[in-house]
Amino acid sequence: MPTTADPATRAALQQARRDYADLRDRKLSLDLSRGKPSPAQLDLAADLLSLPGDRYTAADGTDCRNYGAPLGLRELREIFSPLLDVPTDQLLAVGNSSLELMHDCVVHALLGTTLPGAQGRWVDEGRIAFLCPVPGYDRHFDLCERFGIDMIPVPLTETGPDMAVVEDLVRTDPRIKGIWCVPKYSNPSGTTYSDDTARRLAAMPTAADDFRVFWDNAYAVHHLTDEETEVADILTACAEAGHPDRAFVFGSTSKVTFGGAGVAFFGSSQANVDWLRRYSAKRSIGPDKVNQLRHVLFLKDADGVRRHMLRHREILRPKFDTVDRVFTEQLDGTGLADWTRPKGGYFITLNVLDGCAREIVRLASEAGIALTPAGATHPYREDPQDSVIRIAPTYPTADDVEQIAHAVTVCVRLAGYEKLAG
Ligand code: PMP
Repeated sequence: MPTTADPATRAALQQARRDYADLRDRKLSLDLSRGKPSPAQLDLAADLLSLPGDRYTAADGTDCRNYGAPLGLRELREIFSPLLDVPTDQLLAVGNSSLELMHDCVVHALLGTTLPGAQGRWVDEGRIAFLCPVPGYDRHFDLCERFGIDMIPVPLTETGPDMAVVEDLVRTDPRIKGIWCVPKYSNPSGTTYSDDTARRLAAMPTAADDFRVFWDNAYAVHHLTDEETEVADILTACAEAGHPDRAFVFGSTSKVTFGGAGVAFFGSSQANVDWLRRYSAKRSIGPDKVNQLRHVLFLKDADGVRRHMLRHREILRPKFDTVDRVFTEQLDGTGLADWTRPKGGYFITLNVLDGCAREIVRLASEAGIALTPAGATHPYREDPQDSVIRIAPTYPTADDVEQIAHAVTVCVRLAGYEKLAG
């Protein structure tokens, strides 16, 4: 082997090559690519399938079978109000996907004339930009790309986006209209924003009067440990800082009940809620109240949601622990990788040697294991260091998670030692 590597690295590389050959011989076909709930988690909400039974009347007498109730059922909004830190009156329950609401907010701001604080339509302002904490959620980035919104990456630290960088950029550049934030158990790093980060996002001066914080609280109740992390109440922080219209709050039951057949939420200042409602009224006859009613009957109250999420945790925690155990056994001390140990959410971030992420995902794919494409965690799918891999352990069975985690470490060792051996 023509290499200048030290004998230990050469030996480790030979071993990794043998392990990878064994792995390919096993002809696996496993998928760890998307953060979906597993069938066992969906089974937890099986009662929803037979609800609302023959009930169709909401607490205020609304007939859920008919048109109407554009804000969503009040009793459902009351359940999620404390969980999302949004007053019930300012919380809409609409649609089945929070991503759809984020999309709508971007589109209405681009094409509409009445976003509070805006001079006009974003689309008439030339190129606009969003700040994108990285690593982040690929669908946020896809949305910007789809609508020609420039993306400016900002490093995500252990307490949220690097606020010195954020403050500096938004103070001087009026093209910057928004920032994507996943404030709790961030996708994919599991990061939770500190109170100070939230306060600074709320208070910072911005060159754009219509700047928005897209506060995507997708993992608000998705704890993996006894330490039930909380984040600051962003709407109150913005109001207190004199920027009442700055934050849009999003959430959903996609990973509480059924992904795709749940309920999504939008919360904000009264002015922003009225703004979204005016446009929503043009695009939809109103939300699916039968679905909302069955969610009310199933979840009952905020404590009902918390109890339900404990049952999710019982299924999810062992999978996250397995990944951590296997990674520790196989990679600890090698200097080839480190990874996050999230206290909630759906993902683990695996950081590998610079220049190795794509190769590891390719090696895994050739061995029959689908991982999230390298680069997906960054704007334009371009991770400049090529070092971040998103691990999504929720969907496969516990046994498959063990096999996949092991296989990933083989690929990490092969790509890593190949690189070190030159
Ligand atoms: N935001 C984040 C950060 C997510 O990770 C996800 C799902 N992977 C979503 C939004 C999508 O949520 P929904 O199903 O409500 O559209």
